[in-house]
Amino acid sequence: MIIIKSVDEIEIMREAGAVTARILHELSKIIQSGVSTKEVDDFVEQSILENRMVPAFKGYNGFPASACISVNDEVVHGIPSKKRRLCEGDIVSVDVGTIYKGYYSDAARTYSVGRVDEAAARLITVTEESFYEGLKFCKPGYRLSDISHAIQQHVENNGFSVVRDYVGHGIGKSMHEDPQIPNYGIPARGPRLTAGMVFAIEPMVNEGDWQVEVQSDDWTVKTKDGKRSAHYENTVVITEDEPLLLTKLSEIEES
Ligand code: MG
Repeated sequence: MIIIKSVDEIEIMREAGAVTARILHELSKIIQSGVSTKEVDDFVEQSILENRMVPAFKGYNGFPASACISVNDEVVHGIPSKKRRLCEGDIVSVDVGTIYKGYYSDAARTYSVGRVDEAAARLITVTEESFYEGLKFCKPGYRLSDISHAIQQHVENNGFSVVRDYVGHGIGKSMHEDPQIPNYGIPARGPRLTAGMVFAIEPMVNEGDWQVEVQSDDWTVKTKDGKRSAHYENTVVITEDEPLLLTKLSEIEES
């Protein structure tokens, strides 16, 4: 069942999302060659706590950190480590979530470490663009799989593939609510969208094949072919008009 949020609930989620948005923005300055993924996680955790919010991922099903940090061929759910130092040319996906007054926000970005090759830069750009292709269908009257289809079309038209094993989701008082939102599928299927639905829409896009596998740490997901992967996510509110991005800095600063 998709839970429709009230205006008051969305207001709380807006505050949760604003902190996530600010952190993701600041990470572009923190992420540099030589920095460990643990140091990136420390920054995320301290920033959340300074804002008197709760890191949503820490302890979630036993996850040991506040951010999921996934480098190069790691797709999602990478565990921050003191030993993993970022290198010039890496791409790094950081997924951040906050809880405020019992409500969740969830968002991710993929960053370049220094100068990256052209294929990596294109992978990051196409992944972000595919989110915005899906966003065009985040309006009342469209159906859920219209979002999925738009994301898949854009990714595959650009020669990349979408991860199948992990999907976007409803979000609210739980991090993962109904519905599941795959980043692939045929259009015009599933529930009709209505104002007050809140979704975490999150294309995960691979440079090569779509297949992935979980590593022996039981968390880190990597591409099977060893090629790179990018991730872009925002918490999105369906409204009567344009969708509202709770975790996008430019959007919340304008509003
Ligand atoms: Mg998510």
